[in-house]
Amino acid sequence: MPHMRQNNFPKLIKNLALKRADYRCERCWSKRDLEFHHISPLKLGGKSTVDNCIVLCHNCHNITPKDRFLLKNYFLKFASTKEMINYYNVEDEYEAIKELSKELSIDYKKLRNKIEISQPSHIYAVKQGMKHSVEKRGHAGFNIPYGYEYRNGELKIKPKEAKIVNDIYQWYLSGVSMGKIVKMLNSAQISTKKGCFWAKKTISAILKNLLYCGYFRHEEKITKSNHEQIIDLATFRKVQKIIESQGGKPSNF
Ligand SMILES: [Zn+2]
Repeated sequence: MPHMRQNNFPKLIKNLALKRADYRCERCWSKRDLEFHHISPLKLGGKSTVDNCIVLCHNCHNITPKDRFLLKNYFLKFASTKEMINYYNVEDEYEAIKELSKELSIDYKKLRNKIEISQPSHIYAVKQGMKHSVEKRGHAGFNIPYGYEYRNGELKIKPKEAKIVNDIYQWYLSGVSMGKIVKMLNSAQISTKKGCFWAKKTISAILKNLLYCGYFRHEEKITKSNHEQIIDLATFRKVQKIIESQGGKPSNF
């Protein structure tokens, strides 16, 4: 059986990290459902040392950005948009990001873009956006979601993966937990888009991704897209209700 991600730290390291974190999430200070995050991922040579370990609650862990710069300078610093707006005493998040960009001496647009693409709820399947970045860089400037591939400037269903997406939704609807789904997929030796093991975070991201029911979110606006949907809207909404009833943060849609 593959190890769960949070189990990759030795007990001693976990205890040291917990002590340092005062037994709470190092982002939002919650004491619930604490997990351990590798700052530099194991597969990129990161070590299971206390310096490479952050204590995060399950909810924060689910949305941890891969970008280490963002992790340190944005994600761990502000547990919510509200906190960031308050901190800078500005009107909205864009002004706050502007202040943060000045503080970090980094270009505002670059920082804002980094932040937006790091947020799992922000789907960059905006057709024009994709075309633009494909033209510019020769590839789509976002992670193509499991279940799809990018062909001729459009998101197309990848049948084998789409079937798994559908299975994940159906299992979850029938009461199978995210943790159990992770185990089922990993023991069936089905890998993720990047060829990795599944983690709760991956399942949670799939269950909350509006893209699967034919919508995308861009800058807080939800728009109907014309790509093929894998999940119907009613199923998607039922799943969000279950996530919420279990104390998770659903996709507000
Ligand atoms: Zn947290």
